[in-house]
Amino acid sequence: MGLVIAIDGYSGCGKSTLAKALASRLGYRYIDTGAMYRAVCWYALQQGFFDNRVLNQSALIQALTEISIQFKYNPQHQASEVFLNGENCETSIRTMEISSLVTQVSKLPEVRKKMVELQRRMGAEKSLVMDGRDIGSYVFPEAELKLFMTADKEVRAQRRLLEHQLKGESVSLKEVMDNLEYRDFEDRTRSESPLIQTADAFVVDTTLISKDEQLNLVLTELKRRSLL
Ligand code: C5P
Repeated sequence: MGLVIAIDGYSGCGKSTLAKALASRLGYRYIDTGAMYRAVCWYALQQGFFDNRVLNQSALIQALTEISIQFKYNPQHQASEVFLNGENCETSIRTMEISSLVTQVSKLPEVRKKMVELQRRMGAEKSLVMDGRDIGSYVFPEAELKLFMTADKEVRAQRRLLEHQLKGESVSLKEVMDNLEYRDFEDRTRSESPLIQTADAFVVDTTLISKDEQLNLVLTELKRRSLL
């Protein structure tokens, strides 16, 4: 039936890069739960639920029944893309604007409840790599392998800056750094399933190691635990 591999950690540590590589090596599905919270934030923006960058929480909570989220595999990009109410929003959700507003959405218990239900349904068949902030601690506390990812702030910010630049978005290093710090703080201190490092998590610090080395580290750990 396969394993559930939960990957949590700070913003911009390379969770999704490692998760994709791992899923592809093991023939598993990969679910990016950050994309779900980003998609809900994008929806709230489109609906005009932000006034002066402040979310009208009750308007979003009331509209939650109108929201459906799906992932569809895009063979051209060899990756799953997120759809909200049938619309592909994969590109629209990766902007600095969404990054700066998303924690107002992700801290709402009503939003989290809906996302977690969906995530658990997607995980029922196992053979899954899922990344986020509360996957090992809350969504799948029984996951066979939990990874907690971390990296130096400067390295994380440089990598994120490059991603924005490659997409032609003009942002400064300071803006990216401030956003990472802000989200880490908000994600760690919210009352509903905050980002924590569970005692049983295997820590992967990506500051000094390449993507291939990260993948090999995790595959070695899986073998060490006789899971592979
Ligand atoms: O992973 P990514 O940086 O795209 O996540 C965007 C935001 O979504 C995070 O900063 C966090 O507020 C929220 N999130 C969450 N729980 C998850 C995944 C993401 O609260 N499992």
